[in-house]
Parts: sequence; C-alpha cells; structure tokens
Amino acid sequence: MASSTPPSRAASALAPWAADPLASRGRRHREPPPTPRSEFQRDRDRIVHCTAFRRLEYKTQVFVNHEGDLFRTRLTHSIEVAQIARSIGRGLGLCEDLVEAIALAHDLGHTPFGHAGQDALDACMRTHGGFEHNLQSLRVVDELEQCYGGFDGLNLCFETREGILKHCSRESAAGLGELGARFLERRQPSLEAQVANLADEIAYNNHDVDDGLRSGLIRLEQLDDIDLFAGHRREVERAYPGIAGRRLVHETIRRMINDLVTDLIGETRRRIAAAGPRSIDDVRAAAPLAAFSAPMRERATQLKGFLHVALYRHPRVDEVMARARAVMRRLFEAYAADPSLLPEEHRGRVEALGLRAVADYIAGMTDRFALREYARLTGETAFGPGLPDHP
Ligand code: MG
Repeated sequence: MASSTPPSRAASALAPWAADPLASRGRRHREPPPTPRSEFQRDRDRIVHCTAFRRLEYKTQVFVNHEGDLFRTRLTHSIEVAQIARSIGRGLGLCEDLVEAIALAHDLGHTPFGHAGQDALDACMRTHGGFEHNLQSLRVVDELEQCYGGFDGLNLCFETREGILKHCSRESAAGLGELGARFLERRQPSLEAQVANLADEIAYNNHDVDDGLRSGLIRLEQLDDIDLFAGHRREVERAYPGIAGRRLVHETIRRMINDLVTDLIGETRRRIAAAGPRSIDDVRAAAPLAAFSAPMRERATQLKGFLHVALYRHPRVDEVMARARAVMRRLFEAYAADPSLLPEEHRGRVEALGLRAVADYIAGMTDRFALREYARLTGETAFGPGLPDHP
C-alpha cells in the first residue's frame, strides 16, 4: 500500500553527504509541509509551474529563436541538464529532487539572446548596479514571480536557492545574508548544486557540437583534432562501419556524454572517499568535491576552447549577436526615456525601483517578444530570415 509518510534519509537511501529534505534550512516564509511530496519536490514543481520556466521555450543561447526549430532552446537545454544531473546525482547517492530543481531553475534569469543579451543589459545598467544572470535567477524565484497569495516569488528552500546562485560578486554577496555568506567565506554549495553546475557544462558542450553541426556553422572535419569527439567517433565507426550523417553525430555525442558522466561520478566518488564528509555542512566546508578527473578536464576544456573559436565567435553568430545587443540597448533606452511605453504594472515598478524595473522587464522577455517590441518601438526589423534549414 502507498505510504503518505514523507521520505526519510533511511527510506530514500540518501548518502550522508546528500541534502536531506527533512533537514532543510527552510523557506523565507513558513508554510505547512508539502505531504506527500518532499520539500525539494515541491520546489521542483513550483519551478515547472512558473511563468519564467515557460518563457525558456523561446529563449536561446547560441541560435536566436527565429533561426530554426531544431536547435536547443533554454527550455530543452534545462531539461537536458536535469536529465544529466539526475543521473550523476543517483550515482552519488544525492537528493535527486534537489538536483532536478536546481537544474530546471538554473537559467531562469537569463535575458533574451543568450550572453550577448546579458552583456548588453549589464552595460545599460552599469551605473545602476549592473546586471548578472545568476543573481537575476535568484530574483525571479525570490521576488519577480507573482503567483502565490502569501508571498512574492516561489518561496523556495534555502538549498534550492543556494544552488541557483552559482556565482556572485563579493559586493552582491554582502547584501544576501546567509545565502551570500559562502562567497565571502569561500565555502562550497551542496554536492547537488556542484553536480547541477557541471551537468550544465556537459549539456551545453555536447549540444552545442550537435547544434553547431546541424546549423552547418561547424563541419565534422573540424572536430578531427578534438580528442573527446574524435576518440568516440572512431569507436562509433568501428562499431557501425559506413555510419554517417545524423546517426554518426548522435552516436558520438551520446558516448561523449556517457564518458563525461561516468568520469565525473568516478572522480567525485574518489574525492568524497578522500575527504570523508559526513554531512552537507562537511561538503560545504570541503574543497569542491564534484569534479572531472584531470585528463577528462583537459579534454573537456579542449572541446570548450574549440566551441568558443569555431561556434561562439563564428562570424555568422557574431553578426546575429551584435544585432541582438543593439536590440537590447534600443529597448532599454526607449523604456528608460519613456516608462509609459511599459505595461501598466511595470510602470508602477519603475516609480518604486527605477531602472532595475526596466532591466527586470527586459530580462524577462523571450527572444521573439523582444524582437516584436523592437519592431513596435522602432518600426524596424532587427533580423532578416533565419538560417537555411539543415534537417
Ligand atoms: Mg545553462
């Protein structure tokens, strides 16, 4: 018979170094327990149901939304991160619900148009405290989501918020109380957070190879000198002589992901065994425990370096991103000069918060909404047609 008892550490086989939902540091506003779910399951569910999560569908990282339907969006990226992070979490006896909650929320604060959008918004806000997407993710879950009667934001557990705030300047950390303390004291977050962070890296390195090839912006031969890809490609070609095209790419990438995940679990287990953490607080006090082995770190860094030069700095991507930055600047200037251009609820926020409210509004936009607003405010179209289809 199904039991409605909340999971306990003993029942759920959590390792001693895992985050225990029964021992959470709690929420900012007290709430009744989420029975039959655990506290971290409730966080995961709140993230999935929030507006910012749905917007991830129309936000991109490398390819702008109009460029094609087959590329990753931030939504599919976040789902891939959650899948990879859960596999690693299970291999390490971690709390999978917390790993998943952090993974699904990790990009909620991203602006439209990926890093180009964030850089442009940061430049616009330079004399008003700047803009940083990690802090913005926290702002989304702490303040900006407006769906509960008793509080602003999603009122997530400390451990989920700790995982969402991956990086933070010492200056910003000083204003964040308990949550910012680790950046000042140079402590680590939970292993669940460390794993979600590395799963993000595994996901984007691999899917950017896939999307890069699919778009035609990188070619298969360019990857011949990239050890991680080339080694697995040879293995695939040995196993399936004559394999080519999408099947070759997919078979190679799935092996790369598996290799990275397996290596990460192995190295992290070794580090856990050496450090001997007996609680989540021991994890926080130790050196980073989740890590790739040194040879794998080298191979992953080589791949990353390749993507930077060949894809992220590809002239076609550069051109699109330069236009995206211009769209962000024009939107910011227009709203800052005339807040009556904003929807009514945001006008009120400008009175209370100044330009931070303008940044919040723009950061929340999807790529396509930003492009529509740009057309409405300037009468111009920011982009021509997208990339030709590469099925
Ligand atoms: Mg990410």
